[in-house]
Amino acid sequence: MPEISSTLRNLTGGGSDGWEVFARARQMIASGTPVTELTIGEHDIRTDPSILAAMDASARGGHTGYAMVPGIEALRRKVAERIEAATGVPTQFDNVLITPGGQAALFAAHLAVCRQGSKALFIDPYYATYPGTLRGVGGVATPVQAHPEHGFQPRAADIDAQADGAASLLINSPNNPTGVVYTRKTLEGIADVCKKRDLWLISDEVYETQIWEGEHISPRALEGMDERTLVVGSMSKSHAMTGSRCGWIVGPKDVIAHLTNLATHTTYGVAGFVQDAALFALNEGAELEARIAAPFERRRAITLEKLKAQNTVRMIPADGAMYVMLDIRATGLSGEEFANRLLDERHIAVMPGESFGRAAAGHIRVAMTIEDTAYGAALETLCGFAASLCD
Ligand code: PMP
Repeated sequence: MPEISSTLRNLTGGGSDGWEVFARARQMIASGTPVTELTIGEHDIRTDPSILAAMDASARGGHTGYAMVPGIEALRRKVAERIEAATGVPTQFDNVLITPGGQAALFAAHLAVCRQGSKALFIDPYYATYPGTLRGVGGVATPVQAHPEHGFQPRAADIDAQADGAASLLINSPNNPTGVVYTRKTLEGIADVCKKRDLWLISDEVYETQIWEGEHISPRALEGMDERTLVVGSMSKSHAMTGSRCGWIVGPKDVIAHLTNLATHTTYGVAGFVQDAALFALNEGAELEARIAAPFERRRAITLEKLKAQNTVRMIPADGAMYVMLDIRATGLSGEEFANRLLDERHIAVMPGESFGRAAAGHIRVAMTIEDTAYGAALETLCGFAASLCD
């Protein structure tokens, strides 16, 4: 067989991809050992039947052929309206490209703005795919650490220190894996560095509807940022539509026109019936979004309650998204050791912080994605296990 390209061979950067605990948990389940899985960001509810009905009606109505490559105009208009309402920045349909999910949007956005061999900055801790995405477009994936002592809010000075030779910065608020929502001060600091260093800002806002404390601020709303910001959004988390693969990029019209060319040569758009379902879901408004987000808010409260009764495990204030990040450094174990032992000894699977970068070492990420009672019981067991390590 001839060799495959170095871009693909180097995509994961070699070594561990951080998903070993998850893979082991799946193996244990397959061989008959029950495991409580608190690993991946998948809702425990399915897509709402009303959204499925809209999808069905669209498909049966004939929307099964090629759809418009940049997205159907009604959905692009709806997304534009939503972004304009959130940011106050005039936004039209041709500021919007519909993509097959947020992941494809992240790849396309970076391909649009990263020069080959230039640094593509991202914040550590990070969503597991980020470095591979940046390498995949020929960027030099360069982490900027956000520290637990700063509540995992990135600092402008740390970004500035890495900005020589960089083309772009990727941020994510509400954040996976930490659950942290960036403050206005953090975002203004980031915006200042982007303007000073002439960086593109890619803002991954796929958790924008899941906010428990504070507010979601899109950097597109900050002064002078709309011309250098590409907002990535998705129906996956906000509407429990992970499998439908529908997301978007919002940015300057010229970039969207180039990205439409890219889509013509890669994805050729998103299924029309999926877009019609997304349009229906967005038209349902905030009530449906709140209903889908509610379980995570309840389980965050359960987490706080369970952690009150002990002092070994410390919670990073989780202001949004479907995760909590727990500091387990008091046990003396690394996140990886803790997660592996928790799986073997208590049959609970969580993600080691180290899977999300160096900055989250000594932490674990818990996905709040199982039913409340079982979730509460799992947290109690987890805390008991942590305490037993300190005996
Ligand atoms: N960004 C973040 C931070 C995520 O956590 C995810 C999914 N877990 C995505 C993007 C991609 O989501 P999707 O492709 O399903 O829209």
